Amino acid sequence: MSEPTPPPPTEPTSGASPARREGTAIARQSSAAPSSTAPGKRSSWLPGPAQGFGVTFATMFKKVTTEEYPEVPKQTKPRYHGRHVLNRHPDGLEKCVGCELCAWACPADAIYVEGGDNTEDARFSPGERYGAVYQINYLRCIFCGLCIEACPTRSLTMSNDFELADDDRQALIYTKEQLMAPLLPGMEQPPHPMRLGESEQDYYVRAPQPGSAAEPVVGERA
Ligand code: SF4
Ligand code: SF4
Repeated sequence: MSEPTPPPPTEPTSGASPARREGTAIARQSSAAPSSTAPGKRSSWLPGPAQGFGVTFATMFKKVTTEEYPEVPKQTKPRYHGRHVLNRHPDGLEKCVGCELCAWACPADAIYVEGGDNTEDARFSPGERYGAVYQINYLRCIFCGLCIEACPTRSLTMSNDFELADDDRQALIYTKEQLMAPLLPGMEQPPHPMRLGESEQDYYVRAPQPGSAAEPVVGERA
């Protein structure tokens, strides 16, 4: 009984597509005969060192783009998304009503809000509620601005301040005290009674127009 005959050897490229076979052929051809127009080949008659110093010399007269930060602070665009600000009404009461809409809108879960009830003895905002606890975790924040779009009272806005680096993780969780806008002339530190009217609506219906002297604009985004 005779041994079974092994199948004849096949071409290694027999299963490859026509395009692949064509690419392989081109690669072999180019490795055998390098092109005279290979990238990086200089055609100048100057020696190499002279060409190199020519580039250096020409660069000396170009506009310098080096940032002298932090000696010269960087000027951001007017609508740059930087550190958040919790704004105040013209009498100093807080605009935040503790509704948590900003926290729900945040895709990074960076905001924590706890609302509290205003009383006639301790009033922090014109309405029924105020933001008793407010924190933003800048380890999570991606500065997308969705929180300020969600805020119904324009309490939360973003400033141009970008200097938020720190080597302490705890220090990058900003508290309400750090986020509150400073008191401008004519403002009074809460808690205090409503100075601009009898009801909450007086703070919005008869509120000063943006840009007027009484409108607090510290840190507000344009
Ligand atoms: S800017 Fe974006 S990521 Fe940062 S707190 Fe607001 S919603 Fe969250
Ligand atoms: S900042 Fe605005 S959205 Fe956030 S809790 Fe205060 S009022 Fe509501």
